[in-house]
Amino acid sequence: MKYARPLPTYMVQRYQGWKATTFSENRSWYKRLAEEGQRPRAFIISCCDSRVHVTSIFGADQGEFFIHRNIANLVPPFTDDGDHHGTSAAVEYAVTALKVAHIVVLGHSNCGGVQGCYDMCSGQAPELEEKSSFVGRWMDILRPGYERVLEIPEAERKRALEKESILISLENLMSFPFVQDAVEKGDLTLHGLWTDIGEGDLHQYDPETKSFVQV
Ligand SMILES: [Zn+2]
Repeated sequence: MKYARPLPTYMVQRYQGWKATTFSENRSWYKRLAEEGQRPRAFIISCCDSRVHVTSIFGADQGEFFIHRNIANLVPPFTDDGDHHGTSAAVEYAVTALKVAHIVVLGHSNCGGVQGCYDMCSGQAPELEEKSSFVGRWMDILRPGYERVLEIPEAERKRALEKESILISLENLMSFPFVQDAVEKGDLTLHGLWTDIGEGDLHQYDPETKSFVQV
């Protein structure tokens, strides 16, 4: 691979700082993690957005969360067509191999992926309708959510669509036979969360009221 290059200096310096402080001070903990393997209790599915700092907001350390990130924290429906399914592979490994007790779908405010879906579905982003658009075809997963938010006032639709990205992912998770099985046995619980980046607030889906309530 002739295109790989040395890291930029700022990243090398940050790494060396981490090795000399955080790592050195917790050397035995890292050694134990390496020897005993991972046993995360929770699997978090979040957006790729750099502002969503999954481990920070839960004060999590290494080994605590199994994490998968993609555009707009989406889980596609179960499809056994033999194709490349990165998100579905992460779901399968988390549930069948790691046997996590919780799956958390974490959405967020000001999501660019959700905005793209909104623009595409409302006819303002023809480039996303192209077959060649990876983002557009990925955001097709959220199209049923767009149909649902059309019932509410326009000013509230984008935020509602961010929450639909979480609900549709939870619905699609239940289409995986091994997820459904683990949930029905009581070995696995699903959680829907939405975080407001500017406020630092966290809201969770409440099935009783069918709404997101602040944690
Ligand atoms: Zn996002």
